[in-house]
Amino acid sequence: MEPLGSIVVGAGQAGLSASYHLRRRGVPHVVLDADAAPGGAWQHRAHSLTMADVHGVAQLPDEPLPDVDPAAAARDVVPAYFADYERRHDLPVVRPVAVHAVRPAGEDGDPHGLLVVEAGDRTWTTRTLVNATGTWRHPFVPYVAGVPGFRGRQLHSSRYDGPAAFAGLRVLVVGGGASAVQIIGELAPVADVSWVTRRAPVWRDGEVEEFDGRAAVALVEERVRRGLPPRSVVSVTGLFLRPQEEAARRLGVYDRRRPMPSRFTAGGVVWDRDGAGVRAGDHLAVDVVVWATGFRPVVDHLSPLRLRAPGGGIALDGTTAVADPRVQLVGYGPSASTIGANRAGRAAAVAVRRLLTADAEAQAAAEDAATGSVA
Ligand SMILES: Cc1cc2nc3c(=O)[nH]c(=O)nc-3n(C[C@H](O)[C@H](O)[C@H](O)COP(=O)(O)OP(=O)(O)OC[C@H]3O[C@@H](n4cnc5c(N)ncnc54)[C@H](O)[C@@H]3O)c2cc1C
Repeated sequence: MEPLGSIVVGAGQAGLSASYHLRRRGVPHVVLDADAAPGGAWQHRAHSLTMADVHGVAQLPDEPLPDVDPAAAARDVVPAYFADYERRHDLPVVRPVAVHAVRPAGEDGDPHGLLVVEAGDRTWTTRTLVNATGTWRHPFVPYVAGVPGFRGRQLHSSRYDGPAAFAGLRVLVVGGGASAVQIIGELAPVADVSWVTRRAPVWRDGEVEEFDGRAAVALVEERVRRGLPPRSVVSVTGLFLRPQEEAARRLGVYDRRRPMPSRFTAGGVVWDRDGAGVRAGDHLAVDVVVWATGFRPVVDHLSPLRLRAPGGGIALDGTTAVADPRVQLVGYGPSASTIGANRAGRAAAVAVRRLLTADAEAQAAAEDAATGSVA
């Protein structure tokens, strides 16, 4: 079968934006998505996350977000918007297809060769790849001594589905990001909540509107250019409290933040050293631990392409992988937000089109030379 101009892996905000812009540029492609339904990560969010809770979902290219009830669940509203978008723009999404590997088809290291995309026993060949697999499928939990012996319940924030199951329990929330702040806001009125973080949280000064989002994106961009693992844009923006967190604030939970415990016991956690709000030997009894400790990029399927820089991340020039210009990464590092994903989708399509045009011209020139049609 004729190779495709491009394959987009993932149909979240980043993948749909890329597909829209590839189509506009006439690049034959498919979008392979592991989920059974449209919506990317949004379809898996907690039922309790409403449109009033999200920090703003950017519209997809050329399609305004419908007016929505702020009380409606984001996991319903956003997937419905994505589904409608795929239909209206007739985007070539194929699902469920979980890609397990992307390899060079021919000689390793030939930057003009084809790529083979493998999913189970199905394969596709393509000239370029746009990776848009997000982070949701790769929750991160840090190592803390003694965790296997802890007899209480543990869950990552990606499995958190509202406060109902926690009423009356002693809950330890781990993590210094927006998810931790949000989950504490929901749990503190119904449960006995304690908060631990690795570093002291950085609270954003002033009003939310004054926040310099571009400066935060620039910080993450700089890391990715240097081939370091990206930090989330949210992690560099600082934290802030919204009206939804007011009850938890009044209960003082955010002020009683403690450092990470030294180890877990069967029934809780222990600190071996003095720190902010704790003394060496302190023990805290805990029924449930919520790991609000973030995610890592889903890129294992790209490992045959050897894209990683010595710093451990994938170095990018814009959205293009420095180690292999056939590959674009969108929704990665600086573009890991809905607005960033949108822009990255366009940048990736422009880069793909440019590469395909350059390759076609190089091939025509080679054929001219071979047939002696160059004077
Ligand atoms: C709780 C929470 C709230 C957030 N709120 C906001 C907000 O308010 N505003 C904002 O801008 N951002 C927010 N974010 C971040 C935002 O959700 C993401 O940056 C953005 O939606 C990610 O889009 P994406 O397309 O990169 O990834 P995703 O939406 O995760 O889509 C990735 C797609 O790739 C597919 N996939 C993964 N692996 C494979 C594979 N191997 N083969 C095939 N398909 C694969 C998945 O099935 C999925 O459909 C939030 C994040 C969290 C966790």
